[in-house]
Formats: sequence, structure tokens, C-alpha cells
Amino acid sequence: MTPINSTTSTPPRGRFAPSPSGRMHLGNIFTALMSWLSVKSREGEWILRIEDLDPQRSKPEFVAHIESDLEWLGLEWDEGGSADMGPHAPYSQSSRGDLYESILGRLEATGLTYPCYCTRADIMATQAPHQSDGRVVYAGTCRISPPAHPTRKPSTRLTVDDTDITFSDAIAGIQSFNLARECGDFILRRADGAWAYQLAVVADDADMQISEVMRGNDLLLSAAQQIWLYSLLNHKAPEFAHLPLICNAEGLRLSKRDNSLSMEALRQHMSAKEIIGRLACIAGLTPEPIPMTPNQLIPLFSISKLRELPQIIRINPAEFQSIPINRD
Ligand code: GLU
Repeated sequence: MTPINSTTSTPPRGRFAPSPSGRMHLGNIFTALMSWLSVKSREGEWILRIEDLDPQRSKPEFVAHIESDLEWLGLEWDEGGSADMGPHAPYSQSSRGDLYESILGRLEATGLTYPCYCTRADIMATQAPHQSDGRVVYAGTCRISPPAHPTRKPSTRLTVDDTDITFSDAIAGIQSFNLARECGDFILRRADGAWAYQLAVVADDADMQISEVMRGNDLLLSAAQQIWLYSLLNHKAPEFAHLPLICNAEGLRLSKRDNSLSMEALRQHMSAKEIIGRLACIAGLTPEPIPMTPNQLIPLFSISKLRELPQIIRINPAEFQSIPINRD
């Protein structure tokens, strides 16, 4: 794997991969800004991929909001988006089923996949212990004793080895997860035919030649699952860089309930430069929250500053509601 700060002949390729299930909030913008700066500070390319795998939750109007918010902030993408700009089109996951189908075929050829007939309720009722974050480790029921007369359509699961996946995250440092203990066999395709995030994200990052995956550190365990997929597909994994999570005053990860920190509210109270300036200060790139454009921040960006941040960044919504004096 190429270290993130090394000089390579090919420019880095990063991506922002929002799920269009609502308006973006401050946490999404923090991720977008940092990943944009990380590649732009090394003359790389930034790809906008629309992760609209969930047909019930994804809405075209949210894609339009995401794009207008990114443009308003000055975070222009080089490839992708709803206009499908670039050589790896389409850039919306809902249109990339053929690729996922072929990747599933390759994974099936390893002999490590199996049909799983368990419902969520079955799993919740029989598997223990539950992880503290609500995650359930699947015990491999349908692999160990497949039902003789299944009555429902199966999902497709991937067997994981009882092995430690260790990787060096460019922000979070050395990470190690035991796949069998901490994650369990995971789903590649749901019983209703929907593609699972892990399969789609690996298929897409590989196909789009992404060299750096920067996102929130709630996806650290997913990185281990993704590295497992890369190894089965014989493909080099990208560099991973997991950012601290932006949380509300109670220390909870921002969600749709934190209305005051949604882009809709933020755009009513602040200019793009003010929001960017505050995020840059939160990231430790500037000592004061001075209004700035993303372009002005390029020379100030350094991934080593992100390594010094706490795992969780608590935001006081009040800081994003008042109109600062130095508005321009
Ligand atoms: N679509 C995911 C999200 O919006 C991001 C996944 C990723 O960056 O790998 O949380």
C-alpha cells in the first residue's frame, strides 16, 4: 500500500460517497471538505459517487440538494455526480448492478458464499452476545446447518476467516479487527435482491481506481470487511483514512434529528466561507474560525493535523447559528 503522504507518479483519487436519504449535515460536510482537501493538496481528483442503493430511502431531490450544497460550499468534483461526468459512469450505485453482479460471481467462485435464510428477527433472537453499538455478529447458522426445506428467498452471505485484519489507517493509526469475532459472515446481497453496501463500495472503489478512502470513523470495522473483500478479489486495497466523528452536544453522532446543523439551516444563518472557516478550525488547520474558501485552505492542509484530533468532536450548535461579526 502506498503511504498517503508519499510522492507517487499518479495523482491520488479520492471520493465522496453520500447516501441521498436526507439533507447533508455538518458531519457530511466535514468529511467532504477533508477528503477534497486531502486530494487537492496533492493535485488529485475528487469523485462524487451517489450511494443510492436503498430504494426506499434514496430520493432524487436529495441528490439535487447534495450537489447544490457542495457547489455552494466551493467543493467542486472532477468526476461523477448525477450528470455522470467521467470515464467510470454511471456514478450512481442504483445503475451499477451489472458490475455488482459480476463481482458477486467472482466471490461465489471462491466457494465462500452461501444462501442465508435467517430473518433479522431470527438473528436477533438467537445470536449473542450483541455488540455494545447494537451490531449483531452472525453465528454462521445457515453455513453450519443449512435448512433442509427453506420457505423464503435467501440473502447471500460471505464466510469470513477467523483472522485478524490489521491495517494502518492514515488518521486513526494501526487498526486490527478479528473478522469472525467482531463482524461475522456478512451479507453481500439481501433476500429482496438489494446489494449490500460492503460489496458495492468495494466494487466501485476498485472500478473507479480510488486510491484514498476518507470517511467517518464509524466505518473502521467496515474497512476490515472491505480489505477481506479486496483480498478475495485479488485487488489492492485503497489507503484508508477515517476521520473523527462530528457529534452533537450530547456526544451522539449527528443525525437527521440535529436539524440546526443540517445544510438547510446552516445556509440560512451563515455564508459558505464562514462554514468552511469553522470546519477548518475544528480540524486544526487554522487557529481561528476565519471565513475561508476551500481553495484558500489547500496550502494549510496536512493529514498529520487530523491525527491529533480527538476520536469524537462535539459541536455546539450555537456556534453555527449566530452570524459572526467578520461576515463578508
Ligand atoms: N454512503 C456512506 C454514507 O453516506 C459512505 C460510505 C463510504 O464512504 O464508504 O455514510
